[in-house]
Amino acid sequence: MYYKSTRDSGVKVTSAEAIAQGISKDGGLFVPSGIPKLSLDEIISLRDMSYPERAALIFSKYLTDFSNAEIRYCTDNAYTDKAFDTENICEIAHLFDGTYMLELWHGPTCAFKDMALQILPYLVTTSVKKLGVSKKVVILVATSGDTGKAALEGFKDVEGTQIMVFYPEDGVSAMQKKQMTTQEGGNVGVCAIKGNFDDAQNGVKAIFTDNEVVSSLEKNGKMFSSANSINWGRLAPQIIYYVSSYAQLVKNGEIKPGEKINIVVPTGNFGNILAGYYAKEMGVPVNKLICASNSNNVLTDFIETGVYDRNRSFYTTISPSMDILISSNLERLLYHLSGENDSLIREWFASLKETGKYKVTDEVFEKIKKDFCAGYCSDAETKDLIKRVFERYYYLCDTHTAVAVKVYEDYVKKTGDKTRTLIASTANPYKFSGSVLDALGEADANADEFELVDKLNKVSGMEVPKSLDELKSKQVRFVQSIDKNDMKQYVLKTLA
Ligand SMILES: *Cc1c(COP(=O)(O)O)cnc(C)c1O
Repeated sequence: MYYKSTRDSGVKVTSAEAIAQGISKDGGLFVPSGIPKLSLDEIISLRDMSYPERAALIFSKYLTDFSNAEIRYCTDNAYTDKAFDTENICEIAHLFDGTYMLELWHGPTCAFKDMALQILPYLVTTSVKKLGVSKKVVILVATSGDTGKAALEGFKDVEGTQIMVFYPEDGVSAMQKKQMTTQEGGNVGVCAIKGNFDDAQNGVKAIFTDNEVVSSLEKNGKMFSSANSINWGRLAPQIIYYVSSYAQLVKNGEIKPGEKINIVVPTGNFGNILAGYYAKEMGVPVNKLICASNSNNVLTDFIETGVYDRNRSFYTTISPSMDILISSNLERLLYHLSGENDSLIREWFASLKETGKYKVTDEVFEKIKKDFCAGYCSDAETKDLIKRVFERYYYLCDTHTAVAVKVYEDYVKKTGDKTRTLIASTANPYKFSGSVLDALGEADANADEFELVDKLNKVSGMEVPKSLDELKSKQVRFVQSIDKNDMKQYVLKTLA
């Protein structure tokens, strides 16, 4: 197994090189040269393993240049009950008949990003060591809120690494901002951008391939890598929980071996749902992958029409981690579905850059429609859903997860599909206490983020995660805010 670039099929690197580099020099994303297959028996055999063991088995199919010992070093250190509040690492909750919540937020920062970012530092440092490189790895992150904190937690004080996080000043929740600006560690930096997430992401992408910055880093014995979901080392760990959950549902007697399930994912950058696609291609019996969006519904339109058009208003919503108009990981899907046609990918993404728009071929569109469905909902519908689900099932959804549940409700109404369904629950509701309280009719405009947590605890009775509670006593360390056009200079000044 090796890795190719979506923009140049001639590129051929090992998984260690793909993970260490983050993004291909041609601007393309690394993808496996073939998607490895698992038999149904192999998938079901996972049910008798711990989460780190399940992870090791799946990684061994993708990281074929890693030794078993190297893989176990990564999985055993990342997926422990010190970092996660459950030995199972993620949990499956029964919501209602045939509908299950895959809770991916039991890690240290209370969002699903921990599932990948707890292990990424081990994957990156192991990769760099394997390659015989003695450079310090500089991680640059653009975040819509959750990635930044999860990356900071993952990389803090990891030897041989340094991390800088950029977030949109007004695009993250008060709790997310507090989590990042109080970050501890000697190798971390955090900076706000006057702009939105796309500005931050475009800035970071441009810096990665900027010759001046790259050569300046090199002179100082440093190299870039990425902790965004453009890095294969972010995506691979996300495949694991879909395969693992399938085995778990069989183990729990919820589905029969071989029975198909739907997977619903609240989507932003298309990383999480793409991991579901890889799981399906590996052999997990999946009926539909349902892509749920908020008012930034560029993906809904794309999946329904085959035209990607980012020329539309950008909305700041109550599900900020999904406020994205350019979903980077879609490029990987289109590469696979187009039969690895790198010239088509180059054409479409050049068009996206120049006109904000591209249209896929009929053939690719047919394939998309076969595997995917899509829907979106407004903030008002999201809030209504949170209230209804809490009152009816006593289950508290965060604002992102609620988008997925609402879109799934609409899907069932429209199609009558009775397939058992796994809904990705991507954040602990306490991370978005203000919006969740508002949804429950208990808004309090004067309360700070910690008072909101206390209030939500009184209203819901749900346990407050320890890591959020502990923020109360932490000092704010990072207050810098810069213009979106000054990111390069800032990186040159502080990192190079
Ligand atoms: C990042 C995030 C998403 C979106 O996931 P993508 O992989 O970017 O599609 C959804 N919900 C939450 C809570 C997130 O943090």
